[in-house]
Amino acid sequence: MNTQILRRPTHQVQIDHVNVGSDSPVIVQSMTNTDTADAQATALQVKELSEAGSEMVRITVNNPESAAKVAEIRQRLDDMGCNTPLIGDFHFNGERLLAEFPDCAKALSKYRINPGNVGKGSKGDEKFAFLIRTAAEYGKAVRIGVNWGSLDQSLAKRMMDANLASANPKTPEEIMKEALIVSALESAQKAVDLGLPENKIILSCKVSAVQDLIQVYRELAARCSYSLHLGLTEAGMGSKGIVASTAALSVLLQEGIGDTIRISLTPEPGASRTKEVVVAQEILQTMGLRSFTPMVTACPGCGRTTSTVFQELARDIQQYLRDQMAVWRLQYPGVENLNVAVMGCVVNGPGESKLADIGISLPGTGETPIAPVYVDGERKVTLKGDNMAAEFLAIVREYVEVNYGEGGKKRDYRRVIPIQTA
Ligand code: SF4
Repeated sequence: MNTQILRRPTHQVQIDHVNVGSDSPVIVQSMTNTDTADAQATALQVKELSEAGSEMVRITVNNPESAAKVAEIRQRLDDMGCNTPLIGDFHFNGERLLAEFPDCAKALSKYRINPGNVGKGSKGDEKFAFLIRTAAEYGKAVRIGVNWGSLDQSLAKRMMDANLASANPKTPEEIMKEALIVSALESAQKAVDLGLPENKIILSCKVSAVQDLIQVYRELAARCSYSLHLGLTEAGMGSKGIVASTAALSVLLQEGIGDTIRISLTPEPGASRTKEVVVAQEILQTMGLRSFTPMVTACPGCGRTTSTVFQELARDIQQYLRDQMAVWRLQYPGVENLNVAVMGCVVNGPGESKLADIGISLPGTGETPIAPVYVDGERKVTLKGDNMAAEFLAIVREYVEVNYGEGGKKRDYRRVIPIQTA
């Protein structure tokens, strides 16, 4: 059975040190929710998102106060050793802000333009042309990001009218989806005609319903060779937002569609913005597209796990592994592929433990209070007593050192996903 994912061949877009498209890894993006005019708060949040794993970060550039601070935000990040590319999100007045604040235009690595919010008629065309020419002048990439909630109304009307006059009219929903795709493709063609190379253009067509998103992106992918940014817009809060985004993006990623992703989660009040980065990484890692942090395989627990020892160990191991990654990423290349199993009893415990790099099978209710530990499929040691968690962590640390340190047999493993050739 062939379960291999093949990436869709696209124009490859270079955004500073980040490569996007074709067989480049699918890139994780995020967006700040600070006031961009507050340079310090924005720079700190970009850094936080970057440390969580966001490889590009988008910031709102919505008024002169924000635009005036973009270069300072870039400088603050550089001073903190954070080279994550910044994307400027422009709506309604982007051309004015880029004209008035050339330092902002230079400091950004990519501009996000929404054709539905640039302007109407010849005035809108002029503004769009200015945005594109500015990007071309400074060598910046552009994402032409069409959104269901702000679709170009004149285009939608034109297409609706043509549909009504046709012999076999489609449903209004079908026309709206088609209008999203046409808006993205026509805008991209205009940008190319204005002098922006195809390898500076990324497209997105975001909608908020899972099936619509899948349908729109399949069609968009079939009709062009541009790199595509994926995201379910307005995904929502908590598990709903995570599940909806995962459902939509997984189908597309499985088909090789999608070169950058963002998970648009609404955070709980006061909660960290980094959740959307973690979810994006987990989607890519659980699908086998990329590895970011060692994975913990844990059983859900059941009536056989009456104490909280098992849950605490699974949680502590996952947290420990994630916390180490800032250092381990540099010290132990390839460690992100490590797989650790934490199982609650002997029913599936030893089996899952043997399949992982390291696994522990804790004693279930009524079982002898011992915990066999498996390393590379072999039973290495049996832990008992009150110190099992610390002893297990010591085994994990030793395994990482031996296998991913200098000369380790698992060091530097890199997963490469091939592109489609047909
Ligand atoms: S492995 Fe054991 S404890 Fe875990 S869910 Fe299965 S039966 Fe329950």
